[in-house]
Amino acid sequence: MPTYKCTASCEHCGTLSHPRETTWLPIEQMLKAIDEAADLGYNVVVFTGGEATLAGQNLLKGIERASSHGITVRIVSNAHWATNDRMAERRIGEFVRAGLTEINLSTGDQHARFVPLDNVIRAARAAVKAGLRAMIMVETVLERIITKEVVENHPEFQDICNQFPSSKINILESPWMPLSPSTLNKYPDGVTVNRSNLALCKGCDSILTTTTIQADGQIAACCGLGMRKIPELKLDSIRETKLATADQTAGEDFLKRWLRVEGPERILAWASDHKSNIEWENMYAHRCQACMRIYTDPEVREVIAKHHKEKIADVLLSEWLMFHYNPLAQVN
Ligand code: SF4
Ligand code: SF4
Repeated sequence: MPTYKCTASCEHCGTLSHPRETTWLPIEQMLKAIDEAADLGYNVVVFTGGEATLAGQNLLKGIERASSHGITVRIVSNAHWATNDRMAERRIGEFVRAGLTEINLSTGDQHARFVPLDNVIRAARAAVKAGLRAMIMVETVLERIITKEVVENHPEFQDICNQFPSSKINILESPWMPLSPSTLNKYPDGVTVNRSNLALCKGCDSILTTTTIQADGQIAACCGLGMRKIPELKLDSIRETKLATADQTAGEDFLKRWLRVEGPERILAWASDHKSNIEWENMYAHRCQACMRIYTDPEVREVIAKHHKEKIADVLLSEWLMFHYNPLAQVN
């Protein structure tokens, strides 16, 4: 996260970003983190924020450094810079020359208060034209104007698909979550988690797999929304610590390992089995909001502190299955 600064100030921004933010990750720390990630075998470097493109030359240097290690490089942007086709192609050209391979563009009703959907589609066109993989992420709540369908049916989007039929462009809807476990959004049917769909909830594939360097240098053990509000997800500062040391520290934390194999929804359900007044069904659509509940609700924390030992064997078995079980291995 090169900066927390953003051109927009969306309600419920997961990183608490806004135009008045002035936190910037120094370039030396950014490059140090990228070099260490390359040494550790990380596959992808993602520049997000805040609005990562505000980092200008430092962003380009970061992309170049990650690309020089042969790592896939992605940026996440609100496309504020794609004010016309010429500007969109100019910025995309700079990113591609630096080594960018993928771009995620965020939109939805909140984003569109600050950046028109047309910008996002212009940026997507320029990206596809330059051969990048592009993903348009659309915020999802119950009542909204911008949906996946709206983007798909946008004449300019259809024109992109017709003009570049083999392009790698996708649209993905993602629940828009408040940064508090007690503020609840309304979502379309079937999006929130409850006992009937709990079996579909898998382990968190970000924790202990994705490491985030935040704009203030704090290392976090996942790329979850709300990490700025969950002290336990912060590990140390990239100024003083190596990425490998931070990753190792995170890997020794039982709750993080439990989240990796079961995910926050199943942990919440387990906690409510121990204490029936812990309500959770049909409250959360985004798993990071369920995770905030685990980390911030004193009752859930108390249940975890008191009873987590009963889950140790399950977690260890799941980890063994995850990392060591080979169904093709022959039994003698
Ligand atoms: S565009 Fe993204 S980073 Fe910026 S305020 Fe909105 S949600 Fe936050
Ligand atoms: S569910 Fe929790 S651990 Fe996973 S990404 Fe979200 S905040 Fe991080």
